[in-house]
This record gives sequence, structure tokens and C-alpha cells, in this order.
Amino acid sequence: MTQDSAFDLSNPRSRLPTGQTLLFDADDTLWENNIYFERAIAAFISYLDHRVHTAEEVREHLNKVERATISRHGYGLKSFRRSLVTCFEELTQAPVSEEKHRRIVSFAESIAEQEIELLPGVAETLPKLAERHRLHMITKGDPDEQTDKLERSGLRPYFEEVEILAEKSEAAYRALIEQHGFDRGSTWMIGNSPRSDINPTLAAGLNAVFIPHHFTWVLEHEVLEAAPASSTLLEVSCFADLLLHF
Ligand SMILES: [Mg+2]
Repeated sequence: MTQDSAFDLSNPRSRLPTGQTLLFDADDTLWENNIYFERAIAAFISYLDHRVHTAEEVREHLNKVERATISRHGYGLKSFRRSLVTCFEELTQAPVSEEKHRRIVSFAESIAEQEIELLPGVAETLPKLAERHRLHMITKGDPDEQTDKLERSGLRPYFEEVEILAEKSEAAYRALIEQHGFDRGSTWMIGNSPRSDINPTLAAGLNAVFIPHHFTWVLEHEVLEAAPASSTLLEVSCFADLLLHF
């Protein structure tokens, strides 16, 4: 982890200059997301109540099924629903009856019914950052689902641009840099996922801020890369601490 020794975190006057471009992840950075999936998965595993496999084994199998589903159909609730049904079929070695199908689908549907729950500090901090910097949102997933969540969050006015990508890869970030003419030195990707928010942006030559979330989805886990010499990687423990730097 590198921190620019040119600025002192305890001194607000040593914040980075105004006019930085801040790119925000959404799920588990601005609002809760993964906890709803974890609850749905726990309900699914207990419903499956497998006679041979332990809960951990069922979860591992579901992770494998999810990776395969996502690579074919992308992220989002429709993929998740499909993964639950596939996992159930594979582990019970039988087609799912209509009634069981309805029940499994209900676990996924419960996620769509969740209110948007902003993470602590987001509602107070984002407007302050928007006064001094240019804010974009860069998320991935189903465009309709992500757009709907953003509208319901009330945060839309703070973002100049919103990008909903199929995958947040180094190539995708390079394309955005090109498209928006981002200045690498003053552009920061801010998020909770090493795999989607930090490692690919550092590789693309941007700076990054890691805000860990206790319940980051297992498919987003990855070892945090060290920043190359030309980039800066910061880590803050909560959203409000972004004001120490920006
Ligand atoms: Mg995230």
C-alpha cells in the first residue's frame, strides 16, 4: 500500500486539490447489496436441506454454478435465480417441480423487494465531494436493476455520468479513460472490490481508493495488488474518511 507523503491526512488543508475525478462503485460501496444475497442463499440452503452435502459444500457448489452462469448471462438477479435453480437440480439430481421452482425463485425475488440502504456516511459525504470534484458512477450488472437502484437511492443528482458495465476489467477501464478523456493523475476509482474496483484500475494507470466492506461477495475476493509507481492506492476504513483526502 502506498500513500503519498506529500499530504498529511490529519490536516484538511493538505487534501488533494479540487477538480479530481472520482469514479464510484455502487454495490457495497454506496449501498448495501451483498447482505441480501447472503440471506437469500442461507434460506436456499436451508430449504434444500441436503442429506449428503453440508451447508458449506452446497455453498461452494453454488459459487461454481454462479461463475458459470455469470460468464454466459452476466450479473444480476435473473442470473442469480437461474443459478439457484441449476444448483438445486444438480445437487438433487432431479428436475425441479413447479412448486419447488416457485419457492426457489421467491428467494431471489426477496432481494428485489429490498429498500435501498445507504452505507454509513454516504448521504452526508457524497454532496460535499460533489461540491469540489467531478463524480461518476461505474457499476456492473443488469442495466435496468442498477438504474432502478440508483434512482431509488436519491444519489443520481451527484453524478455527472453513470456507466453500467458487463464486467469491470482493465480493458473496460481503459475504454472509459479513452471515452471520457480522464486524466490518469487526477482520477480515482473508489470501491470495495479488489477484483473489480482496485486491481484493474491500477493496471489501467488510474489511482484507487479501497473501502473494505465486511460482507464483500466471495466472487469479488482477490489479493489487493500493490500500486505501480505512477499510481496511488489509498485505503480508508469508512466512506466519510474520503473527506480526509478529497
Ligand atoms: Mg461493489
